[in-house]
Amino acid sequence: MALNREPATRWAWIEIDQGALRRNTRAFKNLLGPRQRLCCVVKADAYGHGAVECAKIMYATGADMFAVATVREGVALREGGIKAPILLLSEPPIEAADTLLAHQIMPSIYTAEFALAYGERAVSAGVVGKYHMAIETGMNRIGVHHTEVVEFRRSVEFHRGIACDGVFTHFATADEPDGWDYKLQCRRFEEAVTAMQEARFPCGIVHCDNTPASILDPSTHFDMIRAGIGLYGLQPAERTAPVFPLDPVMSVRARVTRVTHPAIGEGVGYGFTYRVPRARVQICTLPVGYADGLSRTLSNRMDVLFRGSRVQQVGNICMDQFMVAITETSKRQMPEAEIGDAMTIIGRDGDEQITADEHARLRGTINYEVVCDFGLRLERVYR
Ligand SMILES: *Cc1c(COP(=O)(O)O)cnc(C)c1O
Repeated sequence: MALNREPATRWAWIEIDQGALRRNTRAFKNLLGPRQRLCCVVKADAYGHGAVECAKIMYATGADMFAVATVREGVALREGGIKAPILLLSEPPIEAADTLLAHQIMPSIYTAEFALAYGERAVSAGVVGKYHMAIETGMNRIGVHHTEVVEFRRSVEFHRGIACDGVFTHFATADEPDGWDYKLQCRRFEEAVTAMQEARFPCGIVHCDNTPASILDPSTHFDMIRAGIGLYGLQPAERTAPVFPLDPVMSVRARVTRVTHPAIGEGVGYGFTYRVPRARVQICTLPVGYADGLSRTLSNRMDVLFRGSRVQQVGNICMDQFMVAITETSKRQMPEAEIGDAMTIIGRDGDEQITADEHARLRGTINYEVVCDFGLRLERVYR
């Protein structure tokens, strides 16, 4: 890939570890039998990791299908040269039907209105529109209710413009596969699939597992798993970490754009939420801000890595920049930074590491949101 150099125009970037992405993809592939498929979820620009670039690497490592959240994400994959089947994980407006057909993006369907309109557009285009039927089994988000699947199929199946390529559901509590809620969703899904099969409606590819279910419950792999977060090397739950090691794919780094030694009592950043507490504190500026996904809620609470050690972020994080303070402590003689020195916001430096999970804990959110947010504006380097 030609995108392996630091961006020329900004001292801040995301590093994508291609080797880690390959290893994680292979780990999911290895959970499966020869007839089972791996659907790689690359919605939200591959959770901030770059959908087209990641999809190419995943495809070369055994991905069979890709899943996206929006029609535009699907079109971007096609325009980026991805030829594998693409599944849209929800039902878009009817007006999107022609775009789906033109790019062979399979919608998830759960209303007869959409199914029939999509079929009409397919007939006009002289093609058959494949789709996957979403089944509501308890999350109460999308899908045909699990007790109404046969009636639904009866109301759309006659249409020659559409063909069911798969049926699926989604778990609300896959991180607890021993719990009643998970088991109830499994039972409802299996009963719905059996009911359709008995009524002679073909189901195609049967699938339900996201990352945690794929790892924790092989009994629900069926014909395909839909892995997302794990491909990017992040754990979906505490209990998956010991049983399924993964390599984080994203690092976030920046170079110091300015250094200064303000006098004691001087404030730093908007609102002076930090004041220089003593002599010989070096304040360094880094060109990453909340518009790059570095949440302002981390202000005065996060660390970054500099030459293998933690240094404290200080002052309110700005839209496009933030500051850190390098102070000598009795324990360590901190070397001062110079303009152009690299610092690590997410990732490893020597023996120290700052993970997306650490940011998630500080922010009161999940690692999924942390990496998605960094995808907002930073350029990516693939190494
Ligand atoms: C996002 C999503 C996935 C992937 O979930 P992970 O927890 O990231 O593996 C799978 N299926 C559906 C329907 C999704 O929306």
